[in-house]
Amino acid sequence: MRTLRSPGWAALAALPLVLHAAPLRTLAEFQALAAPFNSEIRVPPFEASPEQIRDAAVAAMAAGDAAIDRLARQDPAAATFESMFGALDGVEADANLVESRLGFIQQTSPRKEMREAADEAAKRLQQWDIGIGYREDVYAALKSFAAEKPALAGEDQRLFDFTLRDYRRKGFELPAAARNELEALFKELSPMETDFGTNILKTRVALVFTRAELAGVPDSFLSSPGVKTGDDAYTILVNVTPQRLMVAQNCSVAATRRKVVVAQLRLGQDVNVPLLNRIVALRAEIARKLGYASWDDYKIEVKMAKNGAAATRFIEDLIRGIQPKFDAELAEMRALKVAETGDPHAQIEFYDWRYYQNQLVKQKYTVDSEALRVYFPYERSLQGMFAIYQSIFGLRFEQLQAPYVWADGVTLWGVTDAQSGEPMGLFYLDMFPREGKFNHFAEFPIQPGRLLPGGAYLRPTVALVCNFPPPANGAPSLLDHQEVTTLFHEFGHAMHAILTRAHRGRFSGTSVPGDFVEAPSQMLENWTYDKSVLDTFAADYRDPAKKVPAETLARLKEVRLATIGVFYRGQLSFALLDLRLHGPRPEGAAVDCQAESNRIQDTVFLPVPDDTALVAFFGHLAGGYDAGYYGYAWADAIAADMATVFEAAPGGFLDRGAGMRMRREIYSQGDARDVSVSIEEFLGRPRSIAPFLRKLGIRQGAAPEAGAPAR
Ligand SMILES: [Zn+2]
Repeated sequence: MRTLRSPGWAALAALPLVLHAAPLRTLAEFQALAAPFNSEIRVPPFEASPEQIRDAAVAAMAAGDAAIDRLARQDPAAATFESMFGALDGVEADANLVESRLGFIQQTSPRKEMREAADEAAKRLQQWDIGIGYREDVYAALKSFAAEKPALAGEDQRLFDFTLRDYRRKGFELPAAARNELEALFKELSPMETDFGTNILKTRVALVFTRAELAGVPDSFLSSPGVKTGDDAYTILVNVTPQRLMVAQNCSVAATRRKVVVAQLRLGQDVNVPLLNRIVALRAEIARKLGYASWDDYKIEVKMAKNGAAATRFIEDLIRGIQPKFDAELAEMRALKVAETGDPHAQIEFYDWRYYQNQLVKQKYTVDSEALRVYFPYERSLQGMFAIYQSIFGLRFEQLQAPYVWADGVTLWGVTDAQSGEPMGLFYLDMFPREGKFNHFAEFPIQPGRLLPGGAYLRPTVALVCNFPPPANGAPSLLDHQEVTTLFHEFGHAMHAILTRAHRGRFSGTSVPGDFVEAPSQMLENWTYDKSVLDTFAADYRDPAKKVPAETLARLKEVRLATIGVFYRGQLSFALLDLRLHGPRPEGAAVDCQAESNRIQDTVFLPVPDDTALVAFFGHLAGGYDAGYYGYAWADAIAADMATVFEAAPGGFLDRGAGMRMRREIYSQGDARDVSVSIEEFLGRPRSIAPFLRKLGIRQGAAPEAGAPAR
């Protein structure tokens, strides 16, 4: 790691910097620091060959089976909470440890045979894990222990309740016959869900246009391989999102846009509409058998929203709240269309909005996002973010001598509490693309923190896996503003994982409800839109005296706001149709997902033709995110609410008091207490969606019910 000595660093004098004048500490030296705190720092034992990978999975399953057998066969008279519920959590945590490490190897190993072996082994482990969850003898043992009504509190009580809830949700409390029926229904559902996703992947629709029909679409795109397919023939693959968007956003010929968007709305229609009708009916039946009024109640029970009605109310409130902003944006787009077509009665149609949204942004705002890159050299941005997080969260990061890394350029870092010197955990940085590597940006919790049976605390190890542009042509790696924002976001997940104090594996770090997990990191995205934050590190790499101009930053924020009403109404329409499809429905009533969802799209967003089916290509409806799309907006609202604590603090987004509170009330808690409680402890008041509406540029009071999301 290079030492940075540019003059721009003077601004950071007050912040603890990571400089490496001294040689790096070894891992062993860092591990020794943990002993006085009765905690353990470990690097995961990364497997080095496909054989080792297979052996690790086999050993994990054998150890898990042995532990489960001990649990189930122990003398009931001598059973304790620890030997029952604690032991089960331990088995899960041990299995997850291997499963997530293998999953990580599958995403990051430079060797194909390693990735394949890891993929196969991780799948085997998952199957085994599901089997453990259905073991009758384990349930019987836990149940008889539970019948004694053990006196529990806090996290233990929560582990007890959640474990029994898991079994109830699988039908364990039903009579044998009903359970068998349920199992059969689940077995019928699962491949249908897989097919729904596979049909989406397999769908391929090509449309051929002339150059004149594609007026407005950039030449650079049209001349790219595969697109230009004849003298005056251009083939657009409607199922390929960037190709479809290229036309929808840029083509000035309305008939072409319409053709492309209608084709999009029919992707997968013939196979996935009948399939989804059956899936939705089956889910409703499963929910009914389990004693829930609807599938969304079943799915959302384990989330913050707790039930379908609360999630629906939240989405409907937002739909109303955002109405004036949505109307104003549509009116602006309509004015552009009237001017362009000369038709005073022109309306924005379902195939128009992307095009006029793009026109609006182009005409009103001119931000050259490429020009901003000079302010964000990779190394400086990373160190700048480190300095900020170290300061606000009271931490120290130091690079360590890594005993093993899976690829060149990967580095290992230790995190300590700045005040006590307690080692909090480790993180790896794997920041640049390479062949065969996971191709997005993500934080991987390779080794979640937890209390070990002996009483020591196993501190977390995580990895940040990113794909920033590598250095080229003598210039350093230069990030764009969005990439810097992503860095702040993803490293926020690392903080959430590393700063955990939860005792149990299932409550550790980012193991929080799905409609909350993104909120803390979404909150941190505000940092990169704040001039005083950026001025601590962002500077033109050729002339560090040059900071990001205030006007540019203001323009970036305006662009973000300019069409946010349209963006959210689209999102909210999807969220609502997902909830409505999975809401209460009369037993045996026919499902018509196409008509039901089109009606919602018509009223919440823009009317679509009756013979189209946008649900057919909505992948979230299968694969675990069903009745979960509302969670994006839900977490956005919490993120905006939480940001107010920093906004009101004396130091703003650099305020240590607010940061330490975040660490204490949110990060360290994980899911060991209800996240609703954690959020309100952090806020010091009940939750509110008002800050979110303000962020969207909506006047306070414009929403009929801008109160706290219902719980
Ligand atoms: Zn995230």
